[in-house]
Formats: sequence, C-alpha cells, structure tokens
Amino acid sequence: MESPQLAEADHQLRVVFLPFSSTSHIIPVVDIARIFAIFGVDVTIIATPANAAIFQKSIDRDSARGRPIRTHIVKFPFAEVGLPEGIENFNADTPPHTPSKIFQGLSLLRDQFEQLFEDYQADCIVTDMFFPWSVETAAKMNIPRLIFLNGSCLAHALEHAIDKYQPHRRVESGTDSFVIPGLPHELRMTLLQVPDWLRTTNTFTHMMNAIKDAERKSFGSLFNSFSALDGDYTEHYKKIMGTKSWGVGPVSLWANQGEDKAERGRANVKEEEGWLKWLNTKVEDSVIYVSFGSMNKFPPSQLIEIAHGLESSGHDFIWVIPKKEKGHEGVEFLEEFEKRVKETNKGYVFKGWAPQLLILDHPAIGGIVTHCGWNTIVESVNAGLPMVTWPLFAEQFGNEKLLVDVLKIAVPVGSKEWRNWNDFAEETAVTREEVRKAVASLMGEAEEARERRRKAKELSQEAKKAIEVGGSSYNSVKEIIEEIRAFKSRKVITKA
Ligand code: UDP
Repeated sequence: MESPQLAEADHQLRVVFLPFSSTSHIIPVVDIARIFAIFGVDVTIIATPANAAIFQKSIDRDSARGRPIRTHIVKFPFAEVGLPEGIENFNADTPPHTPSKIFQGLSLLRDQFEQLFEDYQADCIVTDMFFPWSVETAAKMNIPRLIFLNGSCLAHALEHAIDKYQPHRRVESGTDSFVIPGLPHELRMTLLQVPDWLRTTNTFTHMMNAIKDAERKSFGSLFNSFSALDGDYTEHYKKIMGTKSWGVGPVSLWANQGEDKAERGRANVKEEEGWLKWLNTKVEDSVIYVSFGSMNKFPPSQLIEIAHGLESSGHDFIWVIPKKEKGHEGVEFLEEFEKRVKETNKGYVFKGWAPQLLILDHPAIGGIVTHCGWNTIVESVNAGLPMVTWPLFAEQFGNEKLLVDVLKIAVPVGSKEWRNWNDFAEETAVTREEVRKAVASLMGEAEEARERRRKAKELSQEAKKAIEVGGSSYNSVKEIIEEIRAFKSRKVITKA
C-alpha cells in the first residue's frame, strides 16, 4: 500500500477522489481527477486493485508528466463477503448474484475510506453517487463533498420529474406514450421505458432516494457534459434540485492524449492492428461503429438479429462483441458471420475490449450504434458522429431523448423496454429490419441524414471550445477549484 505523500505548501489544495466499482463510472471520475491535477490540485484516487488496474497506467503517465496525482490501493474484502478474488467490478463479466456482495464489500471498506480522507488531509472529496454516506463524512470533516453523477442532466431531470409528477400512472398500457411534465422541452416516453425502480418501490428505489438526499446536502454535482450539449438541463437541474451543478466535459478529450487513448480501460494498442489496417482502407465517414458498452449481455438471438441487420444495411461496419468460448450458444453463427464479412470486406468484428477512443477518432468512422451509455455519447459527440440510439438500462432512455428530440443528431432504433443491466431477456428486443432501417437512415444521403451529420460536427467543435481557456467546462473547473479554496480559507480564518 502506498503511503500518503502530501504536498508541503499550505496553499496546495488536496482533493481525494473515490470512484465507484464499475468501469463506466471509474473512467470519467478518473478523468476528472486527472483534470484537477492539470490545474495543479494535489490528487489522490482511492481504488481496489482490479479497479485501479483499469486506469493506473494513465496515472503513471500523468505523474511522469509532473502532475501531483497518485492512486491509493485498498484491498477488497473478498473472503469476508464470499466472493472469489478479483470480482470487485460491475461489468458484462460480473457473475449473476454477485452485485449485492460487491456493494457489501464496499460498505465494509467505509472506515478505511474515511480514514484515508483524513490521512491525505483532503480539502474536498469527490465521490461517486453510489457513496451517499460520504456527504456525512465530509460534514464531519468540515470539507465540501462533490458528487459525481453519470448520465446527462436531462436524464437526471427526467427521472426527477417522473418521480415527482408520476405521469406514467395515467397511461393505460405499457406502450402508450405520455408527456414528461416540467421539462424545458416537450418530451414523451412510455411506461415500459421507465426504469423499474420508478415504476415500483424496490431496493434500488431506496438507494436512489438516499443518493438524491445526499446530493441535496452536497456542495455540488459534477457531470461529464458541456454547455452546448446539455447546458439548458444543467440550468434546469440546478433549479429543481436547489444545488450547484457543473458540466466539466468532455472529460475524455481533456484528460487523454495519444498513448492514454491507446491504453484506456482494458485497451492495449501497441502497433498497427487488424481493425486499424481495415479502417485505413475505408473512405471518410463510410463506416458505422457498433458498441454496447462495458456491461452488455445480449442473448445470442439478439446478436444474430444485429448481424443480419448490419449486413443488409449495405454500409461497412465495425462491431464490438464480447469474447466467448467455443461451445457457447451463437458462437458458431458469429464465427461464420465474421468469416463472411471478412471475405466481402464489409465488416470487422472486434472481440473483447475495443480501443474506443481511437476508433471513434478514425476519419473512416461516420456514425455509431450506441446503447446510449453516457460516456460513449460524450465520446461520440466529441468525434462529431451522428448516432443510432438503442437504450437498454440505467438512465439511457433519458439520454436518448437528448440526442433524438433535443439535439436531433440521432435516429432511434426503436428500443421499447427498459431492463436491468444484468437481467436481459432471452427474446429479441429489436429486429434485423429495425437495425437495417436505422443504420441505412443514419448513414444514407437523405437531407435529414446530412443535417444530422452537420449538427454532430458542429457540436464536436463546441466540445473542443468547452475545454479551451475561457470555455464553459474550463470555467466550471476553475470555479469549482476557487470555491474549494474559498471554503478552505474560511475554515482557516474561523480557526484563527
Ligand atoms: N469502452 C471501451 N471499449 C469497449 C467498451 C467500452 O473503451 O470495448 C469504454 C467507452 O469508451 C466508454 C466506457 O467504456 O468510456 C463505457 O461507458 P458507457 O457509459 O458508454 O457505457 P456502460 O459501460 O456504462 O454501459
């Protein structure tokens, strides 16, 4: 275990970050931590070993760049909660029935986390939404707690509106649409698209209530967003929550340079690889990238529909699928499919963890099919890509509204039902024809397709401006740091 190496100077701000144990929460929180270090803040990130392995190389590089940043590793209590070594992260490979044990393990670590906030003499803690208790810790320590919320401000505002006004109670069937009241735009959704914890009271409802209570008591909320992307909803969110909210994104653009992109998450691109050679043969904006994030568990029947849909769309594609051992249902079909599209040179099947930032940046990529995971959305916006939206779980249906109805840079595939990330139905939710139609519409040459592309490229320019000196996210980070500094100075004056 590393020992605290605290900066000497009293004016040095020290911020401790505690990301949650899921890849898509770790990635942006670590990027935010790295941005704070770019601003000269002394940063410590607390993580368990398997989670630290996801980002440690980027911290080593930042440290070599002279930035005041480090990871503090805490052992996960596998034996105490009855988990095998290494199972400490929520992702597609997380075995069923383990999520509650991971939560239990994290709560056993609470005392250690709190002690580390003290040891590192934190002037502020930035903790994931899934650590609501940390707001009390911060209050005891008389320091600010900033909460990191994954997802768009729109999606969070939408959940707040559904919870408050209960519009879904007034529809007769799961597929009737209703207007979500109290939002800056007239947005509609169906009962089936509402997360289960908002439809009925379950364990997650209680957890979300605790998260929201803690958020209201926090110093402020951080989003991986920027003014031109979600700014109306950042302002709206501040009003409905009565809190401060800041968009500090796109964090991946800000924090990651060349090698960081090649080794991000589980990626390890050392030299020119098959996918890159293949993409290099394709013309600009001609290939659609298809990925469903780090937690996807589609059944074989759905993978088969996607394969047929992509093949019949007539457009070239690169599709990320999970690595599966021989003998698994659907593996033979996918191997045949891979062979066939290789021969026709129409597609590239990527098995395992893709270097997504590098792929999205490639000039041949002209669009993406996404499950509306917020990180992927922000990364695609940054790359100037229009999207086919296929929301699945969490706040993804809300994110889809932003892309399709507000920004108008996306074509919905027609995803009808919200599911828990680890509870995918065996039946097919979206047909091959729906996939084909959406991809053909996105990548086609109709006027509306061109308009989507134009808007997406415009938004990409705005993303770059947001993090330049004087840009919206740049100013947000500066303001947050000044507010933490002012908080610290007030404490010193009160003590004296
Ligand atoms: N990601 C990646 N390669 C993959 C799958 C995912 O680099 O093969 C990254 C992606 O760039 C994004 C994150 O993992 O930063 C996924 O987060 P997102 O919010 O999009 O979806 P989730 O994983 O929560 O479903």
